[in-house]
Amino acid sequence: MMDKTPTNRRHFIQLGLLSGGASFLGWKLHAAQKSDDALALYQPQMEKIRPLFMKKREPGFSDWLAQHKEPGQTFEQYLKINPNRPTAERTRIYLQAIGIFTKNQTEVIYSVQSFMEIVFGLEVKMLPAQGIDQIPASAQRGDALKGNRQLLSTHILDEILKPKRPKDAVAVLAITNEDLWPGEGWNFVFGQASLGERVGVWSTARLGDPEKESKMFQRRVLQVAVHETGHIFGIKHCTAYECCMNGSNHQAESDQTPLVFCPECDAKLWWACGLNPSKRASALNAFAKEHALDPDTAQWERIAKALAS
Ligand SMILES: [Zn+2]
Ligand SMILES: [Zn+2]
Repeated sequence: MMDKTPTNRRHFIQLGLLSGGASFLGWKLHAAQKSDDALALYQPQMEKIRPLFMKKREPGFSDWLAQHKEPGQTFEQYLKINPNRPTAERTRIYLQAIGIFTKNQTEVIYSVQSFMEIVFGLEVKMLPAQGIDQIPASAQRGDALKGNRQLLSTHILDEILKPKRPKDAVAVLAITNEDLWPGEGWNFVFGQASLGERVGVWSTARLGDPEKESKMFQRRVLQVAVHETGHIFGIKHCTAYECCMNGSNHQAESDQTPLVFCPECDAKLWWACGLNPSKRASALNAFAKEHALDPDTAQWERIAKALAS
């Protein structure tokens, strides 16, 4: 979850904003099912879309799976771990922005909110933004003027997010454009989460230039947002297909990772969040079209068609 060197990528998290309305409820199917019914319920829909997905490629030398032996996680295995998921009491994802954001960065954060509401079928609410001046000197290092200021990720998790986590939060995620470090011995971290506490923080500081390469920046931020929230919902790295839940060791590998979840990983969200797979796929296709998220747009279109058949 933490990374020591620039070649050794991110791991961690994100969040959402104030909800624009109740449209995200449109693809809620029903209250989350019991796990023993879930396999039978979702298997037919998984099989409809399975042929649309590429098996996970063999990793290159510096890729995640060449350096981390991971077993993957099927939908069936996920059902057995009693993952963190929405309940009658925990119905929302909260997003905490930390820092000062440019217009482009702010627009990307709002697109993250909309995207997450579709992916998870939950309301994503923005907590009041917080400035850097509220973070004590002991939780900062470097110098903003020299461009090397960093914030202590554990301070954000333990002192900012946990104490004010709303009762109805299934996850609280902070996003900052400041660089992060997780403690002594580390150069930086892309993000960090406390899965048991349902809180996480991630930085956009190393995800590209939001002004000069705004589309790429947006895609990366969206990808981190749903990947890391997937972890908070108990989803492990995917080793079966090319999938949004693939681990990634460096930016080039991340950039090849789809925004789309594979059948095994998407079924986890269908079940955990009580989603209507078909309506949600159509909504994702529309979102991807609006934001020009190729090639994922075409994949969601194929998925929506397959699920509607
Ligand atoms: Zn991950
Ligand atoms: Zn997957």
